Amino acid sequence: MKKEFRELLSEKGRKDMPNVLLVSAECAPLSKTGGLADVVGTLPKSLAGLSVDARVITPYHRVIKQKYADKVEHMFHFYVDLGWRHEYAGIEKLELDGVTIYLVDSERYFGDKIYRGGYDELEQYCFFCRAVLDAIPNLGFTPEVLHCNDWHTAMIPMLARTQYHGAMQENLRFLLTIHNIAFQGKCGFDVPGDLLGIHSDYYTSEFMELYGCADFLKAGCVFAHKINTVSPSYAWEIRTPYFSEGLDGILNARAADLSGIINGIDKKVFNPRNDPLLPAKFDRGHLKGKAVCKAKLQSDLGLEVRDDVPLVAMVTRMTEQKGFDLVACCLDELMSHEDMQFVLLGSGDERFENFMRAAEYRYKGRLAAYIGYNEELAHLVYAGSDFFLMPSRFEPCGLSQMIAMRYGSLPIVRETGGLRDTVAPYNKYTGEGNGFSFANYDAWEMRDTVKTALACWRDKEVMRGLINNAMLADFGFELSAQEYAKLYICML
Ligand code: ADP
Repeated sequence: MKKEFRELLSEKGRKDMPNVLLVSAECAPLSKTGGLADVVGTLPKSLAGLSVDARVITPYHRVIKQKYADKVEHMFHFYVDLGWRHEYAGIEKLELDGVTIYLVDSERYFGDKIYRGGYDELEQYCFFCRAVLDAIPNLGFTPEVLHCNDWHTAMIPMLARTQYHGAMQENLRFLLTIHNIAFQGKCGFDVPGDLLGIHSDYYTSEFMELYGCADFLKAGCVFAHKINTVSPSYAWEIRTPYFSEGLDGILNARAADLSGIINGIDKKVFNPRNDPLLPAKFDRGHLKGKAVCKAKLQSDLGLEVRDDVPLVAMVTRMTEQKGFDLVACCLDELMSHEDMQFVLLGSGDERFENFMRAAEYRYKGRLAAYIGYNEELAHLVYAGSDFFLMPSRFEPCGLSQMIAMRYGSLPIVRETGGLRDTVAPYNKYTGEGNGFSFANYDAWEMRDTVKTALACWRDKEVMRGLINNAMLADFGFELSAQEYAKLYICML
């Protein structure tokens, strides 16, 4: 065990690392709609290397059942009281890559979509929160820290501390990680009242009320012992009204308990040296394979196969969060004035999808828009592109820019949240930096930054230096895991 951890533990009068149970709506590779799943899937593996017994509890979604049914072991079942409802909950156990995952089974709530939307989603996850707390005493594993993630699990600290007694109240510590503050689980007070029996004493701004609504994430911020988010910059951004979606009051009040820990990526999955999804491998010192990937990407997507043109790419959800309105504003100008190619892989808002389909038609052979989700193509885009555009309005952490850097594609980002914490802008006087960035959410600032990047592309020496810096950066999960381990110890 590291000396640092031994010292922290001895301050708490103990020798061993804490037991942790991560609670999450999704967990990669079992179920995934976004970065949350990656974090919950990867963190326990890295924590195991630090002697932390970290396990996961997550819904037994249909997608998991379809793939893993013959690998899970039934542990026990019970009935969850949810207002007048009396619902079956099974606890299944799965061992995956050395991590123990408990799956909460309910055909009623997890028989179809991971997120049903609207009221149905609130009911799904009220059930999950209650089932987790009721299951813990029988798991045969005693967590000391319950690590909740986002609004779907944010009611757990409040429920445990106001409705349960004994060990649940006295010994358990609650950490709430905010992956995206834009989603808060807002509803009328009748919902937590009916589904979870929350007493009307708690319907005030001290507890879970926000602008006249019940707010699950706020309840989590009030009752969790510690709160963290997924980058240091986002941790202070969400204390300001622009980013906080109304939660700056409570987050400023809890500032002493709020911190930011940057996520990492799975360096085994994203490794250009031996990525099975690439037509050629490469690394920092040997970039020939990257040129092969670029040619393959161009030919697969119907672009002119040229090595004398810079290729800018995006792999993204197509929403305003990701800066798509900026792209829509100045893509035509860039495509008309610059000798460049553009590749988009993504899906999302219909208006942005249609904009990109039309752009593909206008710039045939120079611009390709693949509307949809395609893991394999994503790897080729990272490997085959020269620049990776990510002009987010806000970005709690962002994994794509880190993956891009690992594949030698230089990020062009807006300085916000995790993008600010991971991308160092190119300094033409010192040669330092691993990408390009701009400060304001402004289409012309983005356009000018893209132009600067394209100009650098013509200078092979500068590009070599920047690619080297980008590929050298360590974005593995080990560093995040160490920060989480310290935070868990501090909570004991
Ligand atoms: P967010 O979680 O906000 O969508 P992140 O940058 O944290 O953004 O993570 C996005 C992840 O999803 C990355 O691994 C990215 O490669 C992947 N991804 C996003 N869109 C697509 C797509 N259309 N096809 C394949 N992978 C995608």
